[in-house]
Amino acid sequence: MGREFESLRGHIKPVVRKHGWLFLSGLDYLVPMRPYILAESNWKYIKDANFDAAVLPWGACEAHNYHMPYGTDILESEYISAEAARLAWDRGARLTVLPPIPFGVNTGQFDVKLDINMNPSTQLAVLRDVIEVLDRQGIYKLIILNSHGGNDFRTMIRELGLKFPKMFLTTCNWFQAIDQKQFFENKDDHAGEMETSLMMYLRPDLVRPLSEAGDGAAKKFKLAAIREGWAWAERKWTQVTKDTGVGDPRKASKEKGEKYFKAVTEKVSVFFEEVCKTPIKELYE
Ligand SMILES: [Zn+2]
Repeated sequence: MGREFESLRGHIKPVVRKHGWLFLSGLDYLVPMRPYILAESNWKYIKDANFDAAVLPWGACEAHNYHMPYGTDILESEYISAEAARLAWDRGARLTVLPPIPFGVNTGQFDVKLDINMNPSTQLAVLRDVIEVLDRQGIYKLIILNSHGGNDFRTMIRELGLKFPKMFLTTCNWFQAIDQKQFFENKDDHAGEMETSLMMYLRPDLVRPLSEAGDGAAKKFKLAAIREGWAWAERKWTQVTKDTGVGDPRKASKEKGEKYFKAVTEKVSVFFEEVCKTPIKELYE
């Protein structure tokens, strides 16, 4: 925090830290401990703060095998955004992480109890409202940090880019940033070894023992073109997997999760930093 603080306010030293705030000597001024997290900031700080970019974490509320919480994608988006923003902030990037959107596209899981579907058309409306605020207030860069395979913001970005020509809109899937094979034995599509390891590291209080997890076995499409990846159709989740997982979680560990989290957040932080520091008129070379 020391370095973050110095980069924010130069010579002033914090005197007391409590309740997530820095109380400053000689000033009636509060700086949040994490000045890159909007939900932890107050208007007294925000009204004079300058940000080059906003980050919008986007999750989903859905079953994750028997052993992990419905909020897994939400929590991953929150923790990865926050840590990547911290690293980028320490290198001088000025960005603010917005509260995560908790609902994703779960049309294929319509019959999984309490998987909450947000349709793509609703997501478009939510995204439009957020971008409208940023555009009006002169924060012309938005990074969507996506946690959920069913979410796809690319066509929305094309459409909204036409409506908001000053904005630079980008989306990234943190789970594709680094090759999983370097860290995990079994490929994870949903609630498998990678996600379980991450959650064992980030929120062990919410993960049940691995002995309670299903094996994450999943059927594949019979259609060759879809298996080859050049044709696509939505999977009907409950016909594909019994335990809602796609990917075997049983080799997961906290240690694997920690290593992977550090690698992913470092890589995502470089992207955050580059977006912040590259002028919109100089994006191509
Ligand atoms: Zn997930």
